[in-house]
Amino acid sequence: PRRVVTGLQPTGSLHIGNYFGAVRRCVRLQEQGEDLMIFIADLHALTTHQDPSELQDNVLELTACLLASGIDPSRSILFLQSAVARHSELCWLLTCLATHARLAHLPQYKEKAARMKEVPLGLLLYPVLQAADVLLYGATHVPVGADQLQHLQVASQLVRTFTHRYGPAFPTPKPMLSDDCSERLRSLRDPSKKMSKSDTDPKSRILMTDSDETIELKIRKAVTDFTPQVTYEPDTRPGVSNLVAIHCLAEDKLPEEVVEEADGLSTAQYKRVVAAALQRAVGPVRDRARELRAQPDLLRDVLRHGAARARPRADEAYGRAARLVGLAR
Ligand code: ATP
Ligand code: MG
Repeated sequence: PRRVVTGLQPTGSLHIGNYFGAVRRCVRLQEQGEDLMIFIADLHALTTHQDPSELQDNVLELTACLLASGIDPSRSILFLQSAVARHSELCWLLTCLATHARLAHLPQYKEKAARMKEVPLGLLLYPVLQAADVLLYGATHVPVGADQLQHLQVASQLVRTFTHRYGPAFPTPKPMLSDDCSERLRSLRDPSKKMSKSDTDPKSRILMTDSDETIELKIRKAVTDFTPQVTYEPDTRPGVSNLVAIHCLAEDKLPEEVVEEADGLSTAQYKRVVAAALQRAVGPVRDRARELRAQPDLLRDVLRHGAARARPRADEAYGRAARLVGLAR
C-alpha cells in the first residue's frame, strides 16, 4: 500500500497557489482513500527567522485552513512536526551521512543563502530534515512541486547511502507531481515570477484570508498585456494565462474550456468572471477557517491527537534505524 507524507510551513497566510497547489491536492488524496500524513513544518520554519508569537499564530491559522479545506483528522493524520521529536533525531543520523558538497549545490539553498550575510546551518540542512520527515513514516509517495524534486533526490540518495552502509531501513520515496495548472501560479504584479508568500508586494498574491472585495480588487489590478482577447499561452502571454489558470483551478476546468467560454470577452470583462469564480471557490473555505480560528483549543486538540497517532509510527522507524547504526541496545 502507498503511504503519502507531506508538510506545509507555518510561515504566514496561505495564498491561492499554496491552496490549489498543496492543500487542495492533499484533500483530494484523502478523498481517494490514501494513507495520508500531513504535518505543519514548524521546525522547517525556523530555518528563516520567525517571530515566536507569530509562529504560534501561524500554526493555528494553517491548522484552521487545512480543516476548513476538508482535511479530516479522523482519516488523515494531521500533526505538528516539533511534537514528534523523532524528526530531529532521525535528522541527525542522516546529517552524518549527507555531504556538504551535495547540499551546498542545491539551487534553493544557493538562492536563499545569496541574500543572507550569515547563513544558518539549518538552511543548509533543510533537505536532510525533509528526508527525515518522510523516511520516518516509510513514505512511499511524496506530493511535490517541481521546485522540490531535487530535495526528494537528496532523500533517495540518503536511503541508498544508509542501505549500503547499514542495511535496508526505509523505502525510497517517489515524487508525485501534480497534473493540473496548479504547478505554478504566477505573481499578479509580475507574471515572470511565481506567486509567493515572501514577495514584498502584497498585491502580487491573493490570500486565503482575503475578503471578496479584496479578491475582486487584486484580480482587477492584475498585470496583463495589450491584447484584449483571452487566450492560454503561458510562454508568450503569462499574465492572461495566469488568470486562465486561476479560473481553471477555481472551477475544475481545462484551459481550452474556459478560453472557449470567454470568447468575445475583453480581458477587463474576463477579470470579473475570474474574480467571481475565485470568490465561489475560496470564499466558503475562508469563512469556515475564520470560525475554526476562533476555537484555538479545538485546533490544539486536533494537533495533539494527530501527534499521538504519528508517534508510534515514528518510534518504530527510528528504533530500527538506530539499531542498525549501532545506537540502541
Ligand atoms: P516562500 O516564498 O516563502 O517560499 P511559497 O509561496 O513558495 O513561500 P511554500 O511554503 O514554499 O510557499 O510552499 C508551500 C506549498 O505551496 C508547496 O507545496 C509549493 O509547491 C506550493 N506552492 C508555492 N507557491 C506556489 C505557486 N505559485 N503555485 C502553486 N503552488 C505553489
Ligand atoms: Mg517556496
